[in-house]
Amino acid sequence: MNFSDSEIVVSILEEKGYGSTKDIKEADVIFINTCSIRDHAEQRVRKRLDYMQSLKKKNPHLVIGLLGCMAERLKTQLLEEEQVLDIIAGPDSYRDLPRLMEEVESGGKAVNTMLSAEETYADIAPVRYDSNGVSAYISIMRGCENFCAYCVVPYVRGQERSRDVASILREAGDLFRNGYREVTLLGQNVNSYRWTQDGKTTGFPELLEKAAMINPLLRIRFATSHPKDLSDELLLAMSRHHNICKSIHLPVQSGSSRVLDRMNRGYTREQYLERIDALRIVLPDCSISTDIITGFCDETEEDHSETLSLMEKVEYDYAFMFRYSERPDTLAADRYKDNVPDDVKERRLREIIDLQQKLSYQNNKMDVGKTFEVLVEGFSKRSAEHLSGRNSQNKVVVFRATGNKPGDCVPVKINRFTSATLLGNAV
Ligand code: SAH
Ligand code: SF4
Repeated sequence: MNFSDSEIVVSILEEKGYGSTKDIKEADVIFINTCSIRDHAEQRVRKRLDYMQSLKKKNPHLVIGLLGCMAERLKTQLLEEEQVLDIIAGPDSYRDLPRLMEEVESGGKAVNTMLSAEETYADIAPVRYDSNGVSAYISIMRGCENFCAYCVVPYVRGQERSRDVASILREAGDLFRNGYREVTLLGQNVNSYRWTQDGKTTGFPELLEKAAMINPLLRIRFATSHPKDLSDELLLAMSRHHNICKSIHLPVQSGSSRVLDRMNRGYTREQYLERIDALRIVLPDCSISTDIITGFCDETEEDHSETLSLMEKVEYDYAFMFRYSERPDTLAADRYKDNVPDDVKERRLREIIDLQQKLSYQNNKMDVGKTFEVLVEGFSKRSAEHLSGRNSQNKVVVFRATGNKPGDCVPVKINRFTSATLLGNAV
């Protein structure tokens, strides 16, 4: 999501005549796009600002701006805490950056952290500045109104709003004509995508099908699906199109209904598992990934074992696993105590990671002997004789190069695997 925002920022600035550089020492202006989701993310930005201080010592005219969620959360307080900063701009103020830069040029500091109920940057063509030329992200909505108790996103990214259908399809079509072969439609909860025009409302399943019909050679992915809104219509839409990737990211957060209730997730363990059953029936070859938070307020050993047992039941292909990090001003920070000791959080996280590694390994083992269509993204990091790409299930597949190039879709038969990668030969 942040990466997608950075592409919008580059586009806005290039439009005003600014150029970008890969050499940080050459830059006259540096923008740091930030995330506030966990405390660790913010601490890393603070460290980065220490480095900025050293650059500014060498070049006192250097302008440093902080963008995104951390800017939104801390606003002008950041200017007091981090003297090195000249500009603070929240996620809905990127269009204002040229003006903020002028304000700094005429001496002083500049801040805009206004959130908007409408801004979707729909008319801005993102500059794909760090791209493999094959896959790209398209932001289809902004903000979130789910207010999960632990989460800072609704506060720092504002009201949920969808972007108009036509501009999304235009962007996907342009990418295809420019050689891209995969787009990922992005939103915090894509299942609540809704665009109404001339009395007609388009929901996410319909948008997805429209994107899939741009060209059968363009693969479509999406993230993230909130389990409470995962509809049968969506599953059926996925099943109707070969080029809608058979991979779904369905963050569960916890396997305990008690914890889910306190997290304000809007579903129980049973309801989540019912959705998984529906998914397995409609899309038997679909991979499932998830996000898990361990050590949320008052989480007991029993709650933790429920998370482990749910993971075993679902047999996730992949998981992003985090220890709970209390975020100021969220519902959980106001209502509950962050009372699971660090060493317990650490141990539970370890158990979850170990289990997931085992599950990923077992899932990959079952892929041996199967043939997948692999969209080539580039050469393998380890060897220039091997290409690397992904199958529809979003698994990384590495195979010996035989004259194929990035953007090609190659059938590959799997003969080896690790818990992170499938290996095989083109057939
Ligand atoms: N909109 C997505 C998630 C976006 S944030 C969804 O609802 O699933 C990505 C992930 O960060 C979340 O799924 C959650 O697992 C994790 N996360 C969010 N807030 C957190 C916090 N305070 N501590 C630890 N992990 C957190
Ligand atoms: Fe955060 Fe929940 Fe919104 Fe995801 S759905 S961004 S976890 S509030």
